[in-house]
Amino acid sequence: MANKSVQNAAAEPKMSRNRYAELKEMLDGRRRELYAQVQGKMRGVREEGTWGGKLNEVLDAVESSEADIQEDLEFALIQMKSETLNKINDALNRLDQGDYGYCFECGEEIAEKRLRALPFAVRCKDCEEQREIAEQRERQNARRGASSLFLDM
Ligand SMILES: [Zn+2]
Repeated sequence: MANKSVQNAAAEPKMSRNRYAELKEMLDGRRRELYAQVQGKMRGVREEGTWGGKLNEVLDAVESSEADIQEDLEFALIQMKSETLNKINDALNRLDQGDYGYCFECGEEIAEKRLRALPFAVRCKDCEEQREIAEQRERQNARRGASSLFLDM
């Protein structure tokens, strides 16, 4: 009997089932949204591409450069969204492994509300604030260091 309860405790997932489901739903929703956007954009660029191709035959290089810039921007946007999509896939993998949603510094669960706002947050609010304060202090010290150096001259 004692053994059985120990086994049960060990089998208990690190993350509560409810939290897991909520986070998975949140990440899945974002993935679907981004995926639809990337797919839609890709189709758009491809259609514009064939149309733009014919247009480029008519327009000279100077006039078509504006269209190129537009296409470059579209491409950069798709690339950005694809990268975010990769990050979300990565987060979903980590969620399945039980690594997602924990603070990198203190190991505590990152609040769900925070993860909804910042799905790739690696620190809890407290640790993030402490880090920001530390960084600010460092910047101030650097400034002070630089100005004293300047005064010495
Ligand atoms: Zn923390």
